[in-house]
Amino acid sequence: VDWADTPSCYGKNTQHFAHYLRALVAEVPAVRRAALSRIASEDVLTGVANRRQFGIALQQSWRAAQDGARAITLVLIDVDHFKRYNDRYGHPAGDELLRQVGDAIRASLRMGDVAYRFGGEEFSVLLPDADATIGHAVAERVRAGVSAILPPPGGTAVTVSVGVSSAAVAQPPDAIVTAADQALYSAKRAGRDRVVVAS
Ligand code: GH3
Ligand code: MG
Ligand code: MG
Repeated sequence: VDWADTPSCYGKNTQHFAHYLRALVAEVPAVRRAALSRIASEDVLTGVANRRQFGIALQQSWRAAQDGARAITLVLIDVDHFKRYNDRYGHPAGDELLRQVGDAIRASLRMGDVAYRFGGEEFSVLLPDADATIGHAVAERVRAGVSAILPPPGGTAVTVSVGVSSAAVAQPPDAIVTAADQALYSAKRAGRDRVVVAS
């Protein structure tokens, strides 16, 4: 034992030192578990929750909604013309934009509402116990938040298209994703940079 490395509060008392060592070793699995759980639940690029977490949250809030016979609302967000952005500014700049979009979405949410990276340049927000009106308001806030991102010099503003779907709980949870995706597709077809609520 190199006593020089021992925190001085433990002195040269072997019993105290053994206790300190045991406490140190006991911490290792907890720290590793915490790190692993982060790796398993976060999207590496943007830091928002990953698709796996989305699946878990959708199942959970759907079940909770079923018990209380409430609605759940899904907001699906897709960056407009992102391929063009990548082509023009390069993939690393595209990555940086995705980080900024993730931050802008998070900043537009109330505490407790969670943003997920749904796929490449798609994000989602799950609003448990919220109806389509609330979903629409959240979607508009997200759209405004993203459009406030500063584009590169000479570039045009970054925009998103958003699909919102509110589901009665009698439907299977997958149906809410399909409906939000169809609403998003309508938003794209109608000219992008807009919110469409599934009817
Ligand atoms: P639209 O307005 O219709 O959504 O057009 P779009 O260009 O945004 O959509 P498209 O699906 O054609 O292209 C999406 C692009 O996103 C293609 C893919 O290379 C890029 N992409 C997906 N994941 C990442 C990523 O992690 N980083 C970067 N930089 N690009 C990504
Ligand atoms: Mg897309
Ligand atoms: Mg896109």
